[in-house]
Amino acid sequence: MTDIASVREELVTANRILANENVLDSFGHVSMRHPHDPGHFLLSRARAPEVIELGDIMEFELTGDIVGAEPGKPYSERFIHGAIYEARPEVMSVVHNHSPSVIPFSVTGRQMRPLMHMCAPIGGDIPNWDIRTKFGDCTNLLVTNMAMGRDLAAHLGGRNVSLMRGHGSVVVGRSLREAVFTSVYMELNADMQIKAQTMGKINFLSDGEIEAITAGRKGFTFERGWENWCNRVGRPYLPGEWDIGEGYSQTDR
Ligand code: MN
Repeated sequence: MTDIASVREELVTANRILANENVLDSFGHVSMRHPHDPGHFLLSRARAPEVIELGDIMEFELTGDIVGAEPGKPYSERFIHGAIYEARPEVMSVVHNHSPSVIPFSVTGRQMRPLMHMCAPIGGDIPNWDIRTKFGDCTNLLVTNMAMGRDLAAHLGGRNVSLMRGHGSVVVGRSLREAVFTSVYMELNADMQIKAQTMGKINFLSDGEIEAITAGRKGFTFERGWENWCNRVGRPYLPGEWDIGEGYSQTDR
Protein backbone atom coordinates (compact mmCIF):
# COMPACT_ATOMS: atom_id res chain seq x y z
CA MET A 1 0.00 0.00 0.00
CA THR A 2 1.78 3.14 -1.17
CA ASP A 3 -1.08 5.64 -1.48
CA ILE A 4 0.01 8.19 1.14
CA ALA A 5 -3.52 9.11 2.23
CA SER A 6 -4.27 5.43 2.95
CA VAL A 7 -0.93 5.03 4.72
CA ARG A 8 -1.79 7.88 7.07
CA GLU A 9 -5.19 6.31 7.75
CA GLU A 10 -3.48 3.03 8.57
CA LEU A 11 -1.19 4.81 11.03
CA VAL A 12 -4.23 6.31 12.78
CA THR A 13 -5.74 2.81 12.93
CA ALA A 14 -2.51 1.39 14.41
CA ASN A 15 -2.62 4.01 17.19
CA ARG A 16 -6.22 3.12 18.04
CA ILE A 17 -5.48 -0.63 17.99
CA LEU A 18 -2.42 -0.42 20.24
CA ALA A 19 -4.36 1.71 22.74
CA ASN A 20 -7.26 -0.75 22.74
CA GLU A 21 -5.02 -3.81 23.10
CA ASN A 22 -3.33 -2.51 26.26
CA VAL A 23 0.03 -1.71 24.63
CA LEU A 24 -0.23 2.12 24.63
CA ASP A 25 -2.10 4.23 27.20
CA SER A 26 -2.05 8.03 27.13
CA PHE A 27 1.63 7.72 26.19
CA GLY A 28 3.80 5.77 23.78
CA HIS A 29 3.71 6.00 19.98
CA VAL A 30 3.85 4.16 16.67
CA SER A 31 5.52 5.37 13.46
CA MET A 32 5.97 4.30 9.86
CA ARG A 33 8.87 4.94 7.53
CA HIS A 34 7.61 7.13 4.66
CA PRO A 35 6.76 4.70 1.81
CA HIS A 36 8.13 7.08 -0.85
CA ASP A 37 11.11 8.52 1.04
CA PRO A 38 13.14 6.19 3.27
CA GLY A 39 14.83 9.23 4.85
CA HIS A 40 11.54 10.39 6.38
CA PHE A 41 9.05 8.90 8.81
CA LEU A 42 5.42 9.53 9.80
CA LEU A 43 4.38 9.97 13.45
CA SER A 44 1.54 11.76 15.21
CA ARG A 45 1.91 15.02 17.07
CA ALA A 46 2.20 14.53 20.83
CA ARG A 47 -1.25 13.23 21.70
CA ALA A 48 -2.79 10.14 23.36
CA PRO A 49 -2.93 7.33 20.76
CA GLU A 50 -6.59 6.58 21.43
CA VAL A 51 -7.73 10.01 20.21
CA ILE A 52 -5.27 10.55 17.32
CA GLU A 53 -6.83 11.76 14.06
CA LEU A 54 -5.64 12.04 10.47
CA GLY A 55 -4.64 15.70 10.85
CA ASP A 56 -2.29 14.82 13.70
CA ILE A 57 0.09 12.78 11.54
CA MET A 58 3.36 14.65 10.98
CA GLU A 59 6.42 13.95 8.82
CA PHE A 60 10.01 13.99 10.13
CA GLU A 61 13.58 13.65 8.96
CA LEU A 62 15.40 10.72 10.60
CA THR A 63 17.14 13.34 12.78
CA GLY A 64 13.73 14.25 14.26
CA ASP A 65 13.48 17.57 12.39
CA ILE A 66 9.94 18.42 11.25
CA VAL A 67 9.10 18.34 7.52
CA GLY A 68 6.01 20.29 6.43
CA ALA A 69 2.88 20.81 8.50
CA GLU A 70 3.16 21.20 12.27
CA PRO A 71 -0.33 20.63 13.71
CA GLY A 72 1.08 20.61 17.26
CA LYS A 73 3.97 19.79 19.54
CA PRO A 74 5.95 16.73 18.39
CA TYR A 75 6.71 13.82 20.73
CA SER A 76 9.88 14.53 22.71
CA GLU A 77 10.90 10.88 22.19
CA ARG A 78 10.64 10.92 18.36
CA PHE A 79 14.43 10.29 18.28
CA ILE A 80 13.75 6.64 19.16
CA HIS A 81 12.09 6.23 15.77
CA GLY A 82 14.59 8.19 13.67
CA ALA A 83 17.62 6.47 15.16
CA ILE A 84 16.18 2.99 14.57
CA TYR A 85 15.22 3.80 10.95
CA GLU A 86 18.76 5.15 10.47
CA ALA A 87 20.34 1.95 11.80
CA ARG A 88 17.94 -0.59 10.26
CA PRO A 89 17.13 0.00 6.56
CA GLU A 90 14.69 -2.94 6.47
CA VAL A 91 12.57 -1.63 9.36
CA MET A 92 9.36 0.04 8.17
CA SER A 93 7.60 0.59 11.49
CA VAL A 94 8.59 1.29 15.11
CA VAL A 95 6.47 1.12 18.28
CA HIS A 96 7.62 2.69 21.54
CA ASN A 97 5.41 1.62 24.41
CA HIS A 98 5.08 1.51 28.19
CA SER A 99 3.32 -1.87 27.86
CA PRO A 100 2.41 -2.54 31.51
CA SER A 101 3.12 -6.28 31.82
CA VAL A 102 6.51 -5.82 30.12
CA ILE A 103 7.90 -3.22 32.56
CA PRO A 104 8.52 -5.67 35.45
CA PHE A 105 11.00 -7.59 33.26
CA SER A 106 12.99 -4.37 32.72
CA VAL A 107 13.58 -3.81 36.45
CA THR A 108 14.05 -7.27 37.94
CA GLY A 109 16.62 -9.03 35.79
CA ARG A 110 14.02 -11.72 35.13
CA GLN A 111 14.46 -12.62 31.44
CA MET A 112 11.39 -12.44 29.21
CA ARG A 113 11.18 -15.32 26.72
CA PRO A 114 8.42 -16.59 24.42
CA LEU A 115 6.28 -19.28 26.05
CA MET A 116 3.46 -19.45 23.47
CA HIS A 117 3.75 -19.87 19.70
CA MET A 118 2.14 -16.57 18.66
CA CYS A 119 4.68 -14.72 20.82
CA ALA A 120 7.79 -16.28 19.23
CA PRO A 121 8.79 -13.17 17.19
CA ILE A 122 9.71 -11.23 20.33
CA GLY A 123 12.82 -13.46 20.15
CA GLY A 124 14.82 -15.63 22.51
CA ASP A 125 17.43 -12.97 23.25
CA ILE A 126 15.64 -9.83 24.45
CA PRO A 127 18.04 -7.07 25.59
CA ASN A 128 17.32 -4.51 28.29
CA TRP A 129 18.66 -1.05 27.45
CA ASP A 130 19.51 1.08 30.48
CA ILE A 131 19.80 4.81 29.77
CA ARG A 132 21.86 5.14 32.97
CA THR A 133 24.77 3.13 31.54
CA LYS A 134 25.81 5.84 29.07
CA PHE A 135 23.90 8.94 30.15
CA GLY A 136 24.22 8.77 33.94
CA ASP A 137 21.80 8.57 36.84
CA CYS A 138 20.24 12.04 36.51
CA THR A 139 18.22 11.67 33.28
CA ASN A 140 14.39 11.69 33.35
CA LEU A 141 14.63 8.36 31.44
CA LEU A 142 13.21 9.89 28.24
CA VAL A 143 15.02 9.48 24.90
CA THR A 144 15.14 13.17 23.95
CA ASN A 145 18.04 13.44 21.49
CA MET A 146 19.72 11.47 18.70
CA ALA A 147 22.67 10.38 20.86
CA MET A 148 20.26 8.59 23.19
CA GLY A 149 18.24 7.20 20.28
CA ARG A 150 21.37 5.87 18.57
CA ASP A 151 22.57 4.21 21.77
CA LEU A 152 19.20 2.47 22.10
CA ALA A 153 19.27 1.45 18.41
CA ALA A 154 22.78 0.01 18.82
CA HIS A 155 21.59 -1.99 21.83
CA LEU A 156 18.58 -3.29 19.86
CA GLY A 157 20.96 -4.49 17.13
CA GLY A 158 19.21 -6.72 14.59
CA ARG A 159 16.45 -7.85 17.00
CA ASN A 160 12.70 -7.15 16.92
CA VAL A 161 12.41 -6.01 20.54
CA SER A 162 14.40 -4.27 23.28
CA LEU A 163 13.25 -3.47 26.79
CA MET A 164 14.05 -0.03 28.26
CA ARG A 165 14.84 -0.22 31.98
CA GLY A 166 12.19 1.42 34.15
CA HIS A 167 10.44 2.85 31.11
CA GLY A 168 9.05 0.47 28.47
CA SER A 169 10.23 -1.09 25.25
CA VAL A 170 10.72 -0.69 21.52
CA VAL A 171 9.34 -3.06 18.89
CA VAL A 172 10.20 -2.96 15.19
CA GLY A 173 8.68 -4.56 12.10
CA ARG A 174 9.11 -4.80 8.35
CA SER A 175 5.57 -3.46 8.12
CA LEU A 176 3.13 -1.55 10.32
CA ARG A 177 1.05 -4.70 10.77
CA GLU A 178 4.10 -6.71 11.85
CA ALA A 179 5.19 -4.12 14.46
CA VAL A 180 1.64 -3.91 15.85
CA PHE A 181 1.30 -7.70 15.90
CA THR A 182 4.58 -8.22 17.76
CA SER A 183 3.70 -5.46 20.25
CA VAL A 184 0.31 -7.00 21.08
CA TYR A 185 1.82 -10.46 21.56
CA MET A 186 4.75 -9.15 23.63
CA GLU A 187 2.29 -7.67 26.15
CA LEU A 188 0.37 -10.98 26.19
CA ASN A 189 3.58 -13.03 26.62
CA ALA A 190 4.70 -10.85 29.52
CA ASP A 191 1.34 -11.24 31.25
CA MET A 192 1.30 -15.02 30.69
CA GLN A 193 4.90 -15.40 31.85
CA ILE A 194 4.20 -13.58 35.14
CA LYS A 195 1.19 -15.87 35.70
CA ALA A 196 2.98 -19.06 34.65
CA GLN A 197 5.98 -18.49 36.90
CA THR A 198 3.69 -18.42 39.95
CA MET A 199 2.66 -21.97 39.00
CA GLY A 200 6.11 -23.48 38.57
CA LYS A 201 8.98 -23.91 36.16
CA ILE A 202 8.11 -22.68 32.65
CA ASN A 203 8.70 -24.85 29.58
CA PHE A 204 9.63 -22.03 27.16
CA LEU A 205 9.81 -22.28 23.36
CA SER A 206 13.17 -23.54 22.14
CA ASP A 207 15.49 -21.47 19.94
CA GLY A 208 14.59 -23.73 17.00
CA GLU A 209 10.85 -23.26 17.57
CA ILE A 210 11.27 -19.48 17.85
CA GLU A 211 13.21 -19.39 14.58
CA ALA A 212 10.75 -21.63 12.70
CA ILE A 213 7.67 -19.68 13.83
CA THR A 214 9.22 -16.27 13.16
CA ALA A 215 10.39 -17.28 9.66
CA GLY A 216 6.93 -18.66 8.83
CA ARG A 217 4.97 -15.60 9.95
CA LYS A 218 3.55 -14.03 6.79
CA GLY A 219 0.83 -11.82 5.40
CA PHE A 220 -2.22 -13.91 6.13
CA THR A 221 -1.40 -14.04 9.85
CA PHE A 222 -1.04 -10.26 10.03
CA GLU A 223 -4.27 -9.69 8.08
CA ARG A 224 -6.27 -11.97 10.35
CA GLY A 225 -5.19 -10.09 13.48
CA TRP A 226 -5.44 -6.66 11.86
CA GLU A 227 -9.02 -7.21 10.59
CA ASN A 228 -10.14 -8.29 14.05
CA TRP A 229 -8.39 -5.42 15.84
CA CYS A 230 -9.82 -2.88 13.33
CA ASN A 231 -13.29 -4.20 14.11
CA ARG A 232 -12.72 -3.85 17.85
CA VAL A 233 -11.91 -0.13 17.52
CA GLY A 234 -14.50 0.66 14.82
CA ARG A 235 -11.91 1.51 12.17
CA PRO A 236 -12.29 0.46 8.51
CA TYR A 237 -10.32 -2.62 7.49
CA LEU A 238 -8.22 -1.89 4.39
CA PRO A 239 -6.94 -5.25 3.11
CA GLY A 240 -3.17 -5.41 2.80
CA GLU A 241 -1.18 -6.73 -0.13
CA TRP A 242 -0.42 -10.40 0.37
CA ASP A 243 -0.42 -13.47 -1.80
CA ILE A 244 -2.85 -16.16 -0.70
CA GLY A 245 -0.48 -18.95 -1.74
CA GLU A 246 2.71 -17.67 -0.17
CA GLY A 247 0.83 -15.98 2.62
CA TYR A 248 -0.24 -19.14 4.38
CA SER A 249 2.10 -20.29 7.09
CA GLN A 250 2.46 -22.59 10.07
CA THR A 251 1.13 -19.92 12.40
CA ASP A 252 -2.17 -19.44 10.54
CA ARG A 253 -4.36 -21.32 12.96
MN1 MN B 1 8.38 6.66 26.69
